[in-house]
Amino acid sequence: MSDIVSIKDIEIAGKKVFIRCDFNVPQDEFLNITDDRRIRSAIPTIRYCLDNGCSVILASHLGRPKEISSKYSLEPVAKRLARLMNKDVILAKNVIGEDAKKKVGELKPTEILILENLRFEKGETKNDENLAKELASMAEIYINDAFGVCHRAHASVEAITKFFAEGKKAAGFLLLKEIEFSKNLIKRPSRPFVAVVGGSKVSGKLQALTNLLPRVDKLIIGGGMAFTFLKSIGFDIGNSLLEEELIDEAKQILRKGKELGVKIYLPVDIVAAPTCSQESPVQYVSVQEIPNGWMGLDVGPASVTLFKEVIADAQTIWWNGPMGVFEIDKFSKGSIKMSHYIADTHATSVIGGGDTADVVARAGDVDEMTFISTGGGASLELIEGKELPGVKPLRIKEEQ
Ligand code: AMP
Repeated sequence: MSDIVSIKDIEIAGKKVFIRCDFNVPQDEFLNITDDRRIRSAIPTIRYCLDNGCSVILASHLGRPKEISSKYSLEPVAKRLARLMNKDVILAKNVIGEDAKKKVGELKPTEILILENLRFEKGETKNDENLAKELASMAEIYINDAFGVCHRAHASVEAITKFFAEGKKAAGFLLLKEIEFSKNLIKRPSRPFVAVVGGSKVSGKLQALTNLLPRVDKLIIGGGMAFTFLKSIGFDIGNSLLEEELIDEAKQILRKGKELGVKIYLPVDIVAAPTCSQESPVQYVSVQEIPNGWMGLDVGPASVTLFKEVIADAQTIWWNGPMGVFEIDKFSKGSIKMSHYIADTHATSVIGGGDTADVVARAGDVDEMTFISTGGGASLELIEGKELPGVKPLRIKEEQ
């Protein structure tokens, strides 16, 4: 059982409900939404509120606006949500301004209103209590369903919870699901448990690696971060990504893994190129033969075959970080193949991080994965064993 107050645990029927969502979706240059997974993921909580006769106020940020600009408007989100739900969605012209207040006041049961981009208000990222109070005054109930921002103490995520008494604030279904999956991974994974990590830097995942090491049976390290590990055991990595100051740390992780009996796998071959571009010539070489001045930009075919063998008996797989520079076609094969191989196992597969979710989507494997997290930073912090500031106020309080 979860120790977080669920939306199902509190009385919401007929009330005005404020739902903090994470509608921070990717858009192309024409502002078309290119992936609406975060919007679709919010629908179960919204529907539950509507079915309970609530008036629903939705709030989210989108991008990192420096000032109020139509480029960062939530209008495309409101339109997409309306289409997905087959229902009108009212858009306020601001966050706590006159238009927002008027529309909140007029909102009827089972209607949906969406406020403008929360980050149009400077106080949002400063966890400003005045902004939080204004937002809180709009509703009787506060629901947090924005997993992707729960690692941030922002006004609509953290400060706002101070203005709702116990029994008036809770987590939405998406947030509960995200927390549950991460908790199960850390506390009771089915074994063998294999972690597959990649991405650019060791530094970004060092804490997660350290926390995971005693818990996993096998660890696969790919992507740019693999080169600091390869360097630490004496390979000449050419111009590949290196974090010099973490070489010792990398060596220690490998040593600790050995002590704990964790099998750690590094790439055995790579796709090397002199520059990181689609036009660049490439060579498929073993990690012992990286040409002088060239860099490793993807794991090679022998490595993915090895990794396939390593995950074949897995019961649980956690994957965070691409195996190469997947944004460039030439260097995307390692990541795409890894996605296919993980999808083909019978393991519970949990995908964390926006880039990794992107790889899985490009590979066409979304439906094959058990769970794809909607939050990169937040899911990493959970794996690191941290308490998220947005989740802490929603924990069930011990009886006094
Ligand atoms: P992260 O945010 O740390 O998960 O890193 C994701 C980024 O790592 C992606 O944008 C990839 O292009 C990049 N990446 C993966 N492999 C490499 C590599 N071998 N060299 C440089 N960048 C890489």
